[in-house]
Amino acid sequence: MSEIFRCASSRLVSPVRLELAMDTGRCRSCGGIDLQRTVSRESYVGGGQTLRRCGICAAVYLAPDFTPESLDLFYREHYRRLFPSETIWRSEQRFFAWRGDRPVADIRLARIEPHLPTGAHLLEIGSGFGAFLGAAATLQGVRLSAIEPDVANRGRLLGSANVDFVRSIEATSRGSIDVVVAFHVVEHLADPLASLREIHAALKVGGRAFVEVPDLMQGLLSPSYFHPAHLSYFTVPTLSRLAGAAGFRIVQAGPHPDGGILTENIWLEVEKPSTAAVAPRALAALPEEVAAVDALLDAVDWRASPVRHWRRTAKHLALAMFGPGLVGELQRFRQWRQLRRIGWT
Ligand SMILES: [Zn+2]
Repeated sequence: MSEIFRCASSRLVSPVRLELAMDTGRCRSCGGIDLQRTVSRESYVGGGQTLRRCGICAAVYLAPDFTPESLDLFYREHYRRLFPSETIWRSEQRFFAWRGDRPVADIRLARIEPHLPTGAHLLEIGSGFGAFLGAAATLQGVRLSAIEPDVANRGRLLGSANVDFVRSIEATSRGSIDVVVAFHVVEHLADPLASLREIHAALKVGGRAFVEVPDLMQGLLSPSYFHPAHLSYFTVPTLSRLAGAAGFRIVQAGPHPDGGILTENIWLEVEKPSTAAVAPRALAALPEEVAAVDALLDAVDWRASPVRHWRRTAKHLALAMFGPGLVGELQRFRQWRQLRRIGWT
């Protein structure tokens, strides 16, 4: 490979100009400053962040944060190019059918529906295209609220759902919500513990929260698994302890019980306890757990790989030539074949 082409291709792979905020050196989950191990530089985007592991709470996370302006730039300019399957192309109907938004929404709702009697108030954080709210609207007399900054697209799968969109969870009355759901949201947040505490504050006593995030221990790990859209990489114990530290009682925490295309995710169901005096649980992990996370990270080949480099270059060339629409369509087609194989279509 000629040096000229290597330089040209690396510019294609890393077109990102993002600025980092000050590095506090603190763990994203527990705030600890000791025993923080730097594992590798984030290479998928190459924005200057590093992947770290906390020796206190076993959290795995990217740090430091981007500046607010760069974070906005990342989601506005780079996110859909990095994840072209998020880009609607040609047929909107086929876009959602191949992604499986509706069957996945129905499967999630089946688990949550018993906690949504007539008159219940449901809040979804990060409602995306609105598939879950559209499904929830079929329930009798359930009040729907949501937080979703993508104003242009958040109504696409709402159907006839009547949703009160709010700017932030603080905009809801404390202790007013029966059920909060957050699917693939918490891993994007800069301060996951603070966010879980906000959910706790918004819920009524006895209210429930349902959280779904990727499971670090089940993911097929390569350096490309780690990218700036996901700031935290949870395991069942780290997510459970975080929820306990936010004041929740754990009802269920484990690999996703529905499997299928939801395999490789954690499903967490928590309750706001009825006794106000429940002490938040500690975040510290046992040394064996930290060692298990280290073993997983040490099994990843972090070295620059020509195969990975060329795969990324090919993707970026395809994006440059055909745009994200066609590339995303191919990714969705693969997902649709998987959906068909497991009978979810
Ligand atoms: Zn920590």
